[in-house]
Amino acid sequence: MARFLVRTFGCQFNELYSGAIIDALKHNGHQTAAGLSDADVVIINTCAVRWKSEEKAYGYLGEAAHAVGGAHIMFMGCVASLDVQRVHRIAGRDVHLISGDASLEQVLQTLSHIVHLEVQEYSPPSSLFPTADIEIIRGCESFCTYCIVPASRGREIAVPAEDVVANARKALADGFAEILLLGQNINHYAWREESFMDLLETIDLLPGVFWTWFLSPHPASFDEHDVERMMQLKHAEHRLHLPLQSGSNRILAAMNRRYSTDTYARLASLVRRDASWALTSDVIVGFPGETDEDFEQTVDAVKQFSFDAVFVAKYSDRPGTPATRMQNKVPQAVVDHRHARLLDVVEDLSLLAHQNTVGHTEEVLVLSPHGEEQWFGRTRSGKNVWFAAASPTSQGQFCSVAIERASREGLYGARVA
Ligand code: SF4
Repeated sequence: MARFLVRTFGCQFNELYSGAIIDALKHNGHQTAAGLSDADVVIINTCAVRWKSEEKAYGYLGEAAHAVGGAHIMFMGCVASLDVQRVHRIAGRDVHLISGDASLEQVLQTLSHIVHLEVQEYSPPSSLFPTADIEIIRGCESFCTYCIVPASRGREIAVPAEDVVANARKALADGFAEILLLGQNINHYAWREESFMDLLETIDLLPGVFWTWFLSPHPASFDEHDVERMMQLKHAEHRLHLPLQSGSNRILAAMNRRYSTDTYARLASLVRRDASWALTSDVIVGFPGETDEDFEQTVDAVKQFSFDAVFVAKYSDRPGTPATRMQNKVPQAVVDHRHARLLDVVEDLSLLAHQNTVGHTEEVLVLSPHGEEQWFGRTRSGKNVWFAAASPTSQGQFCSVAIERASREGLYGARVA
């Protein structure tokens, strides 16, 4: 029996892999360590999207190497693909490196060289219950000029459609209530003759009570017909996360995003026709060369699309990306100011979207307990909801909640069925 620590930085993909690693280790009789001084094995799952999280990963690697030695460390994810020499300088040459484009099977295979591990068949990580994260395509070939992912995660590789469907079927049989399909550019998925929308429709035919959602489609390769097909699915959550990144066509071109705000608006308007659907997005402020006018266009676009929620990121240089070599960087104080201003706009829109549900009854997926007869869940359109429930309620169950009030963070109410 070994004591292990798993430290995770970054995205939903890393959460998925870390959850599966923890489950596999526990299934083989290993136990979680209380801290580095108590650990036999350390797994560090890294993210390179932001400079800060990359540096944190290197910092933690140094601490772990000091505590357990490089031979007992698995260093994986995006940072592991970027600067092997730096990893070796910190943790020595015995450290086990897994590049960001490795499959879960390859990761578990490597781990089995460090600790005893009999690899089981696929199961969604129990830590993510009731959501079954299922990766359907790895890597990215879009080469947005600010992004390190194509270098760290490599070329796009699709998981065979029959495996995806089998994994979804197994997750539902295991009691999971939500199928979350993952891919950096999920709508680039193609397996033989099957497109991403075909795959979604196949999963939609599975028996049971469940919701499906996916992250994230690229607007350049998502068309009106795709949106219409998505909105007709029986099990689809009523939300689309469609990264906009900028409201300025000039900046979108400099980012190499390959769509215009008009293209985006056509897709957004289809979603906006149905009030039960939410539209959420990602926006970057302070991209090199972004003028006040470009930024104002972004503010206008965010208002025009009336997003339910937006993740607003400040642009930061990622070594090795084309944007890092661009000359006309925006001063940090301006970036900070634009970020704060856009956040205000976004928070007002979120509050409005939440207020629009007050007085309605929403379908809710129960995610976790939140105190005595209090629960936390998510509506079909992805809004957080805290609610009281006198009748027996459990994680992974669907119920109806009457919404009584709203804040910027979410909704509050009581279970009615
Ligand atoms: S689509 Fe662009 S932002 Fe997204 S992972 Fe690929 S390169 Fe990065």
